[in-house]
Amino acid sequence: MSSSFYIHTFGCQMNLADSEIVTSILTDGGFARAGDEASADVVLLNSCAVRENAEERLGNILTQLKGRKRRQRGLVVGVLGCVPQFERERVFSDYPFVDFIVGPDNYRELAGIIENSREQKHLASLDYDQAETYAGIDPVRTGTISAFLPVMRGCNNYCAFCVVPVTRGRERSVGYERVVAEVAALSAAGFREVTLLGQNVNSWRDAKEGLDFAGLLDGVSLAAPGMRIRFTTSHPKDISESLVRVIAARPNLCNHIHLPVQSGSSRMLDLMKRGHTRQEYLDKIAMIRRHIPDAAITTDLIAGFCTETEEEHRETLSLMEAVGYDTAFMFHYSVRPGTWAARNLPDDVPEAVKKRRLQEIIELQTSMSREIYRCEIGQTVEVLAEAESRRSSSQLMGRTKTNRAVVFSRGEFNPGDTLLVKITGATSATLMGVVQCPV
Ligand code: SAM
Ligand code: SF4
Repeated sequence: MSSSFYIHTFGCQMNLADSEIVTSILTDGGFARAGDEASADVVLLNSCAVRENAEERLGNILTQLKGRKRRQRGLVVGVLGCVPQFERERVFSDYPFVDFIVGPDNYRELAGIIENSREQKHLASLDYDQAETYAGIDPVRTGTISAFLPVMRGCNNYCAFCVVPVTRGRERSVGYERVVAEVAALSAAGFREVTLLGQNVNSWRDAKEGLDFAGLLDGVSLAAPGMRIRFTTSHPKDISESLVRVIAARPNLCNHIHLPVQSGSSRMLDLMKRGHTRQEYLDKIAMIRRHIPDAAITTDLIAGFCTETEEEHRETLSLMEAVGYDTAFMFHYSVRPGTWAARNLPDDVPEAVKKRRLQEIIELQTSMSREIYRCEIGQTVEVLAEAESRRSSSQLMGRTKTNRAVVFSRGEFNPGDTLLVKITGATSATLMGVVQCPV
Protein backbone atom coordinates (compact mmCIF):
# COMPACT_ATOMS: atom_id res chain seq x y z
CA MET A 1 0.00 0.00 0.00
CA SER A 2 1.53 3.37 -0.97
CA SER A 3 1.59 6.02 1.75
CA SER A 4 2.58 9.60 2.25
CA PHE A 5 4.66 10.66 5.24
CA TYR A 6 5.39 13.82 7.20
CA ILE A 7 8.28 14.31 9.64
CA HIS A 8 8.29 16.65 12.65
CA THR A 9 11.92 17.35 13.56
CA PHE A 10 12.98 18.40 17.07
CA GLY A 11 16.35 19.54 18.39
CA CYS A 12 19.69 20.06 16.75
CA GLN A 13 21.07 20.31 13.21
CA MET A 14 22.06 16.63 13.44
CA ASN A 15 18.38 15.73 13.73
CA LEU A 16 17.57 17.94 10.72
CA ALA A 17 20.26 16.08 8.76
CA ASP A 18 18.84 12.74 9.97
CA SER A 19 15.36 13.73 8.79
CA GLU A 20 16.84 14.34 5.31
CA ILE A 21 18.32 10.82 5.44
CA VAL A 22 14.97 9.35 6.56
CA THR A 23 13.21 11.21 3.73
CA SER A 24 15.63 9.66 1.24
CA ILE A 25 15.16 6.15 2.69
CA LEU A 26 11.36 6.44 2.58
CA THR A 27 11.08 7.97 -0.90
CA ASP A 28 13.40 5.22 -2.20
CA GLY A 29 11.09 2.76 -0.42
CA GLY A 30 8.05 3.98 -2.41
CA PHE A 31 6.59 6.46 0.08
CA ALA A 32 5.59 9.98 -1.00
CA ARG A 33 6.35 13.18 0.90
CA ALA A 34 3.23 14.94 2.21
CA GLY A 35 3.13 18.76 2.16
CA ASP A 36 1.80 18.90 5.71
CA GLU A 37 0.95 16.67 8.63
CA ALA A 38 -2.81 16.77 7.98
CA SER A 39 -2.48 15.13 4.55
CA ALA A 40 -0.02 12.41 5.64
CA ASP A 41 -1.01 8.90 6.58
CA VAL A 42 2.36 8.21 8.26
CA VAL A 43 3.45 10.80 10.84
CA LEU A 44 7.00 10.54 12.15
CA LEU A 45 8.43 12.49 15.08
CA ASN A 46 12.21 12.74 15.01
CA SER A 47 12.78 13.38 18.70
CA CYS A 48 15.42 15.09 20.83
CA ALA A 49 16.22 14.09 24.42
CA VAL A 50 18.99 16.57 25.23
CA ARG A 51 16.82 18.86 27.37
CA GLU A 52 13.53 18.37 29.13
CA ASN A 53 11.69 21.03 27.12
CA ALA A 54 12.35 19.30 23.76
CA GLU A 55 10.70 16.21 25.22
CA GLU A 56 7.78 18.33 26.41
CA ARG A 57 7.25 19.67 22.87
CA LEU A 58 7.29 16.08 21.59
CA GLY A 59 4.63 15.23 24.20
CA ASN A 60 2.44 18.14 23.04
CA ILE A 61 2.44 16.97 19.41
CA LEU A 62 1.83 13.36 20.43
CA THR A 63 -1.13 14.47 22.55
CA GLN A 64 -2.59 16.30 19.54
CA LEU A 65 -2.07 13.19 17.38
CA LYS A 66 -3.95 10.96 19.83
CA GLY A 67 -7.36 12.33 18.74
CA ARG A 68 -6.47 12.12 15.07
CA LYS A 69 -5.32 8.55 15.47
CA ARG A 70 -8.76 7.67 16.90
CA ARG A 71 -10.59 9.41 14.04
CA GLN A 72 -8.39 8.35 11.10
CA ARG A 73 -8.29 4.60 10.56
CA GLY A 74 -4.94 3.51 9.14
CA LEU A 75 -2.97 6.51 10.44
CA VAL A 76 0.52 5.35 11.43
CA VAL A 77 2.52 7.22 14.11
CA GLY A 78 6.21 6.52 14.76
CA VAL A 79 8.72 8.11 17.14
CA LEU A 80 12.31 8.22 15.87
CA GLY A 81 15.65 9.29 17.31
CA CYS A 82 16.94 9.93 20.78
CA VAL A 83 13.88 9.75 23.06
CA PRO A 84 12.89 6.12 22.37
CA GLN A 85 16.55 5.10 22.42
CA PHE A 86 16.73 5.80 26.15
CA GLU A 87 13.08 5.78 27.22
CA ARG A 88 11.67 2.87 25.28
CA GLU A 89 9.09 1.81 27.84
CA ARG A 90 7.93 5.35 28.55
CA VAL A 91 7.00 6.14 24.94
CA PHE A 92 4.67 3.15 24.71
CA SER A 93 3.31 3.48 28.26
CA ASP A 94 2.61 7.25 28.02
CA TYR A 95 1.44 7.15 24.38
CA PRO A 96 0.11 3.63 23.73
CA PHE A 97 -1.29 4.69 20.33
CA VAL A 98 2.30 5.09 18.98
CA ASP A 99 2.82 2.28 16.47
CA PHE A 100 6.61 1.97 16.51
CA ILE A 101 9.87 3.42 17.74
CA VAL A 102 13.16 3.52 15.83
CA GLY A 103 16.59 4.63 17.15
CA PRO A 104 19.17 6.78 15.32
CA ASP A 105 21.13 3.77 13.98
CA ASN A 106 18.10 1.93 12.55
CA TYR A 107 16.58 4.20 9.92
CA ARG A 108 17.42 1.83 7.05
CA GLU A 109 14.70 -0.50 8.39
CA LEU A 110 11.99 2.17 8.44
CA ALA A 111 10.05 1.29 5.28
CA GLY A 112 9.67 -2.35 6.42
CA ILE A 113 8.75 -1.30 9.96
CA ILE A 114 6.00 1.03 8.69
CA GLU A 115 4.51 -1.79 6.61
CA ASN A 116 4.75 -4.32 9.47
CA SER A 117 3.23 -1.87 11.94
CA ARG A 118 -0.08 -2.18 10.12
CA GLU A 119 -0.23 -5.78 11.44
CA GLN A 120 1.90 -5.70 14.60
CA LYS A 121 1.68 -3.38 17.60
CA HIS A 122 4.55 -1.59 19.32
CA LEU A 123 7.44 -2.50 17.05
CA ALA A 124 10.86 -1.34 18.27
CA SER A 125 14.18 -1.14 16.47
CA LEU A 126 16.80 0.30 18.80
CA ASP A 127 20.04 -1.61 18.30
CA TYR A 128 23.22 0.45 18.35
CA ASP A 129 25.25 -0.06 15.19
CA GLN A 130 28.83 1.09 15.66
CA ALA A 131 29.42 1.02 11.89
CA GLU A 132 26.33 2.94 10.75
CA THR A 133 27.12 6.26 9.05
CA TYR A 134 24.39 6.01 6.37
CA ALA A 135 26.97 5.60 3.62
CA GLY A 136 25.38 5.32 0.20
CA ILE A 137 22.26 7.28 1.13
CA ASP A 138 21.81 10.55 -0.71
CA PRO A 139 19.83 12.84 1.67
CA VAL A 140 16.82 14.67 0.26
CA ARG A 141 17.88 18.25 1.00
CA THR A 142 15.38 20.75 2.39
CA GLY A 143 17.35 23.76 1.14
CA THR A 144 19.23 24.72 -2.01
CA ILE A 145 21.82 27.17 -0.62
CA SER A 146 23.08 25.72 2.68
CA ALA A 147 23.44 22.04 3.52
CA PHE A 148 24.22 20.08 6.69
CA LEU A 149 26.63 17.18 6.34
CA PRO A 150 27.17 14.84 9.31
CA VAL A 151 30.86 13.81 9.30
CA MET A 152 30.59 11.76 12.44
CA ARG A 153 27.93 10.20 14.62
CA GLY A 154 27.79 9.41 18.35
CA CYS A 155 29.96 10.72 21.19
CA ASN A 156 32.53 9.15 23.54
CA ASN A 157 32.74 12.00 26.04
CA TYR A 158 30.10 11.17 28.65
CA CYS A 159 29.76 14.69 30.06
CA ALA A 160 27.93 14.24 33.36
CA PHE A 161 24.76 16.10 32.30
CA CYS A 162 24.42 14.82 28.74
CA VAL A 163 22.31 12.01 27.34
CA VAL A 164 23.84 11.98 23.83
CA PRO A 165 26.30 9.08 24.37
CA VAL A 166 23.34 7.00 25.65
CA THR A 167 21.04 7.94 22.77
CA ARG A 168 23.49 8.02 19.88
CA GLY A 169 26.12 5.49 20.90
CA ARG A 170 29.87 5.50 20.33
CA GLU A 171 31.73 7.86 18.02
CA ARG A 172 32.31 6.89 14.39
CA SER A 173 33.63 9.04 11.57
CA VAL A 174 32.61 9.19 7.93
CA GLY A 175 35.73 8.49 5.80
CA TYR A 176 37.77 11.33 4.27
CA GLU A 177 37.11 10.34 0.64
CA ARG A 178 33.37 10.26 1.18
CA VAL A 179 33.17 13.63 2.97
CA VAL A 180 35.29 15.33 0.29
CA ALA A 181 33.22 13.74 -2.51
CA GLU A 182 29.95 14.82 -0.86
CA VAL A 183 31.13 18.41 -0.42
CA ALA A 184 32.32 18.52 -4.05
CA ALA A 185 28.91 17.16 -5.15
CA LEU A 186 27.07 19.82 -3.12
CA SER A 187 29.23 22.49 -4.71
CA ALA A 188 28.53 21.09 -8.19
CA ALA A 189 24.79 21.09 -7.39
CA GLY A 190 24.94 24.83 -6.67
CA PHE A 191 25.04 24.84 -2.86
CA ARG A 192 26.94 27.86 -1.54
CA GLU A 193 27.58 26.68 2.01
CA VAL A 194 27.99 23.44 3.96
CA THR A 195 28.13 22.85 7.71
CA LEU A 196 30.09 19.75 8.74
CA LEU A 197 28.31 18.24 11.75
CA GLY A 198 29.36 16.13 14.71
CA GLN A 199 28.76 16.16 18.46
CA ASN A 200 32.49 16.78 18.75
CA VAL A 201 33.88 17.37 15.27
CA ASN A 202 37.41 17.81 16.65
CA SER A 203 37.62 14.10 17.33
CA TRP A 204 36.88 13.21 13.67
CA ARG A 205 39.56 10.75 12.45
CA ASP A 206 40.32 8.75 9.34
CA ALA A 207 42.83 6.17 10.56
CA LYS A 208 43.34 4.73 7.07
CA GLU A 209 44.34 8.12 5.66
CA GLY A 210 46.11 9.14 8.91
CA LEU A 211 44.07 12.36 9.08
CA ASP A 212 42.46 14.40 11.86
CA PHE A 213 39.79 17.13 11.57
CA ALA A 214 42.35 19.77 10.56
CA GLY A 215 43.31 17.51 7.63
CA LEU A 216 39.65 17.03 6.72
CA LEU A 217 38.95 20.79 6.75
CA ASP A 218 42.01 21.37 4.61
CA GLY A 219 40.88 18.80 2.02
CA VAL A 220 37.27 19.99 2.00
CA SER A 221 38.24 23.65 1.60
CA LEU A 222 40.35 22.78 -1.45
CA ALA A 223 37.68 20.50 -2.95
CA ALA A 224 35.08 23.30 -2.92
CA PRO A 225 36.92 26.64 -3.03
CA GLY A 226 33.77 28.54 -4.02
CA MET A 227 31.78 27.28 -1.06
CA ARG A 228 31.65 28.56 2.50
CA ILE A 229 32.50 25.82 4.96
CA ARG A 230 31.31 25.80 8.57
CA PHE A 231 31.51 23.13 11.25
CA THR A 232 29.96 22.45 14.63
CA THR A 233 30.40 21.50 17.47
CA SER A 234 33.97 21.88 18.70
CA HIS A 235 34.80 20.52 22.15
CA PRO A 236 37.22 22.87 23.97
CA LYS A 237 39.50 20.07 25.18
CA ASP A 238 40.06 18.84 21.63
CA ILE A 239 40.36 22.02 19.55
CA SER A 240 43.94 22.11 18.30
CA GLU A 241 46.30 24.82 17.10
CA SER A 242 46.72 23.00 13.78
CA LEU A 243 42.95 23.21 13.24
CA VAL A 244 42.88 26.93 14.01
CA ARG A 245 45.83 27.50 11.65
CA VAL A 246 43.94 25.83 8.78
CA ILE A 247 40.89 28.02 9.42
CA ALA A 248 43.11 31.12 9.43
CA ALA A 249 44.80 30.07 6.18
CA ARG A 250 41.77 29.23 4.03
CA PRO A 251 39.38 32.05 3.09
CA ASN A 252 36.41 29.72 2.52
CA LEU A 253 36.60 28.26 6.07
CA CYS A 254 34.34 30.56 8.07
CA ASN A 255 35.88 32.45 10.98
CA HIS A 256 33.20 31.41 13.44
CA ILE A 257 33.96 28.89 16.16
CA HIS A 258 31.25 27.48 18.40
CA LEU A 259 33.05 26.41 21.57
CA PRO A 260 30.62 25.38 24.32
CA VAL A 261 31.98 26.12 27.80
CA GLN A 262 28.90 25.29 29.94
CA SER A 263 30.33 26.98 33.08
CA GLY A 264 33.04 29.43 34.11
CA SER A 265 33.86 27.53 37.29
CA SER A 266 36.63 24.92 37.29
CA ARG A 267 34.86 22.97 40.04
CA MET A 268 31.68 22.82 37.94
CA LEU A 269 33.66 21.86 34.82
CA ASP A 270 35.24 19.02 36.79
CA LEU A 271 31.85 17.83 38.10
CA MET A 272 30.49 18.08 34.56
CA LYS A 273 33.43 15.89 33.36
CA ARG A 274 34.32 18.38 30.63
CA GLY A 275 38.05 17.56 30.70
CA HIS A 276 39.39 21.14 31.04
CA THR A 277 39.59 23.98 33.57
CA ARG A 278 38.49 27.60 33.26
CA GLN A 279 42.09 28.67 32.60
CA GLU A 280 42.66 25.98 29.97
CA TYR A 281 39.53 27.19 28.18
CA LEU A 282 40.72 30.81 28.30
CA ASP A 283 44.10 29.68 26.93
CA LYS A 284 42.30 28.09 23.95
CA ILE A 285 40.40 31.34 23.36
CA ALA A 286 43.69 33.28 23.42
CA MET A 287 45.18 30.80 20.94
CA ILE A 288 42.20 31.23 18.58
CA ARG A 289 42.40 35.04 18.81
CA ARG A 290 46.16 34.95 18.15
CA HIS A 291 45.63 33.21 14.82
CA ILE A 292 42.20 34.64 13.87
CA PRO A 293 41.82 38.05 15.55
CA ASP A 294 38.38 38.69 14.02
CA ALA A 295 36.95 35.23 14.85
CA ALA A 296 33.41 35.20 16.22
CA ILE A 297 33.23 32.85 19.17
CA THR A 298 29.90 31.50 20.39
CA THR A 299 29.08 29.07 23.18
CA ASP A 300 26.58 26.97 25.16
CA LEU A 301 25.99 27.69 28.86
CA ILE A 302 24.17 25.77 31.58
CA ALA A 303 22.84 27.64 34.65
CA GLY A 304 22.29 25.87 37.96
CA PHE A 305 24.11 22.57 37.45
CA CYS A 306 24.23 20.32 40.55
CA THR A 307 25.66 22.05 43.67
CA GLU A 308 26.48 25.30 41.79
CA THR A 309 26.98 28.19 44.26
CA GLU A 310 26.34 31.91 43.69
CA GLU A 311 30.08 32.46 43.51
CA GLU A 312 30.43 29.78 40.82
CA HIS A 313 27.53 31.31 38.89
CA ARG A 314 29.36 34.66 39.02
CA GLU A 315 32.44 32.90 37.60
CA THR A 316 30.32 32.03 34.56
CA LEU A 317 29.33 35.69 34.18
CA SER A 318 32.95 36.82 34.49
CA LEU A 319 34.13 34.23 31.97
CA MET A 320 31.49 35.44 29.50
CA GLU A 321 32.87 38.97 29.87
CA ALA A 322 36.46 37.78 29.54
CA VAL A 323 35.71 35.97 26.26
CA GLY A 324 33.17 38.40 24.75
CA TYR A 325 30.95 35.83 23.05
CA ASP A 326 29.10 36.90 19.92
CA THR A 327 26.04 34.89 20.93
CA ALA A 328 25.23 31.90 23.12
CA PHE A 329 22.74 29.08 23.54
CA MET A 330 21.74 29.34 27.19
CA PHE A 331 19.90 26.74 29.23
CA HIS A 332 19.07 25.94 32.81
CA TYR A 333 20.08 22.48 33.93
CA SER A 334 17.52 19.69 33.64
CA VAL A 335 18.21 16.18 34.90
CA ARG A 336 18.44 13.62 32.11
CA PRO A 337 17.78 10.01 33.10
CA GLY A 338 20.69 7.66 32.41
CA THR A 339 23.41 10.31 32.79
CA TRP A 340 26.21 10.25 35.36
CA ALA A 341 24.78 13.36 37.05
CA ALA A 342 21.31 11.79 37.33
CA ARG A 343 22.81 8.77 39.09
CA ASN A 344 25.43 10.46 41.25
CA LEU A 345 24.76 14.16 41.90
CA PRO A 346 21.97 16.00 43.72
CA ASP A 347 19.84 18.30 41.55
CA ASP A 348 19.86 20.72 44.47
CA VAL A 349 19.71 24.19 42.91
CA PRO A 350 16.07 25.28 43.32
CA GLU A 351 14.17 25.81 40.05
CA ALA A 352 13.61 29.52 40.80
CA VAL A 353 17.35 30.02 41.40
CA LYS A 354 18.25 28.20 38.16
CA LYS A 355 15.84 30.43 36.25
CA ARG A 356 17.12 33.63 37.88
CA ARG A 357 20.74 32.69 37.12
CA LEU A 358 19.78 31.86 33.54
CA GLN A 359 18.07 35.25 33.24
CA GLU A 360 21.24 36.99 34.45
CA ILE A 361 23.28 35.05 31.87
CA ILE A 362 20.81 35.97 29.10
CA GLU A 363 20.80 39.65 30.07
CA LEU A 364 24.59 39.84 30.11
CA GLN A 365 24.86 38.04 26.76
CA THR A 366 22.23 40.29 25.17
CA SER A 367 24.09 43.42 26.22
CA MET A 368 27.44 42.01 25.00
CA SER A 369 25.93 40.93 21.66
CA ARG A 370 24.37 44.39 21.24
CA GLU A 371 27.78 46.02 21.78
CA ILE A 372 29.63 43.62 19.43
CA TYR A 373 26.99 44.14 16.73
CA ARG A 374 27.01 47.95 17.25
CA CYS A 375 30.77 47.95 16.55
CA GLU A 376 30.02 46.56 13.06
CA ILE A 377 28.21 49.76 12.04
CA GLY A 378 30.20 51.46 9.28
CA GLN A 379 32.00 48.22 8.25
CA THR A 380 31.51 46.56 4.85
CA VAL A 381 31.05 42.79 5.19
CA GLU A 382 30.64 39.84 2.85
CA VAL A 383 27.14 38.38 3.12
CA LEU A 384 25.70 35.19 1.65
CA ALA A 385 21.99 35.90 1.05
CA GLU A 386 20.00 32.96 2.39
CA ALA A 387 16.30 33.84 2.13
CA GLU A 388 13.70 36.58 2.13
CA SER A 389 13.61 38.28 5.50
CA ARG A 390 10.81 37.24 7.83
CA ARG A 391 9.35 40.76 7.83
CA SER A 392 9.20 41.56 4.10
CA SER A 393 9.72 40.00 0.68
CA SER A 394 11.44 43.25 -0.37
CA GLN A 395 14.28 42.43 2.05
CA LEU A 396 16.79 39.59 2.12
CA MET A 397 18.42 37.95 5.14
CA GLY A 398 21.95 36.62 4.89
CA ARG A 399 24.95 35.79 7.06
CA THR A 400 28.49 37.03 7.38
CA LYS A 401 31.36 34.53 7.58
CA THR A 402 31.22 35.15 11.34
CA ASN A 403 27.60 33.87 11.24
CA ARG A 404 26.01 37.25 12.04
CA ALA A 405 22.56 37.75 10.50
CA VAL A 406 22.26 40.75 8.15
CA VAL A 407 19.02 42.18 6.70
CA PHE A 408 19.08 44.47 3.66
CA SER A 409 16.89 45.78 0.83
CA ARG A 410 16.59 43.14 -1.84
CA GLY A 411 17.05 45.30 -4.97
CA GLU A 412 17.89 43.02 -7.90
CA PHE A 413 19.47 40.31 -5.70
CA ASN A 414 18.36 36.81 -4.79
CA PRO A 415 19.01 34.14 -2.15
CA GLY A 416 22.31 32.44 -3.03
CA ASP A 417 24.04 35.69 -4.05
CA THR A 418 27.20 36.75 -2.21
CA LEU A 419 27.25 40.51 -1.66
CA LEU A 420 29.29 43.22 -0.04
CA VAL A 421 26.99 44.99 2.43
CA LYS A 422 27.72 48.19 4.35
CA ILE A 423 26.36 47.92 7.90
CA THR A 424 24.16 50.87 8.85
CA GLY A 425 22.37 49.66 12.00
CA ALA A 426 22.31 46.88 14.59
CA THR A 427 20.24 45.22 17.31
CA SER A 428 21.57 42.56 19.69
CA ALA A 429 20.73 39.82 17.15
CA THR A 430 20.68 41.38 13.67
CA LEU A 431 22.72 43.76 11.54
CA MET A 432 21.01 46.05 9.01
CA GLY A 433 22.83 47.18 5.89
CA VAL A 434 22.91 48.45 2.32
CA VAL A 435 24.29 46.40 -0.58
CA GLN A 436 27.43 47.92 -2.12
CA CYS A 437 28.04 45.35 -4.85
CA PRO A 438 28.06 41.60 -5.60
CA VAL A 439 31.28 39.75 -4.76
N1 SAM B 1 28.72 18.31 21.89
C1 SAM B 1 28.52 19.60 22.31
C2 SAM B 1 29.55 19.96 23.39
O1 SAM B 1 30.19 19.13 23.93
O2 SAM B 1 29.66 21.10 23.74
C3 SAM B 1 27.15 19.87 22.84
C4 SAM B 1 26.01 19.10 22.31
S1 SAM B 1 24.64 19.11 23.39
C5 SAM B 1 23.65 18.08 22.47
C6 SAM B 1 24.05 20.78 23.22
C7 SAM B 1 24.00 21.57 24.48
O3 SAM B 1 22.87 21.21 25.24
C8 SAM B 1 25.16 21.39 25.44
O4 SAM B 1 26.29 22.11 25.05
C9 SAM B 1 24.57 21.89 26.74
O5 SAM B 1 24.77 23.29 26.90
C10 SAM B 1 23.08 21.61 26.58
N2 SAM B 1 22.67 20.50 27.47
C11 SAM B 1 22.99 19.20 27.34
N3 SAM B 1 22.46 18.50 28.37
C12 SAM B 1 21.80 19.38 29.15
C13 SAM B 1 21.05 19.26 30.36
N4 SAM B 1 20.90 18.10 30.97
N5 SAM B 1 20.50 20.38 30.88
C14 SAM B 1 20.66 21.59 30.27
N6 SAM B 1 21.36 21.75 29.13
C15 SAM B 1 21.92 20.66 28.57
FE1 SF4 C 1 27.12 15.60 25.21
FE2 SF4 C 1 29.58 16.11 26.10
FE3 SF4 C 1 29.24 14.54 23.96
FE4 SF4 C 1 28.75 17.19 23.83
S1 SF4 C 1 30.72 16.21 24.21
S2 SF4 C 1 27.45 15.54 23.02
S3 SF4 C 1 27.90 17.62 25.82
S4 SF4 C 1 28.59 14.07 26.04
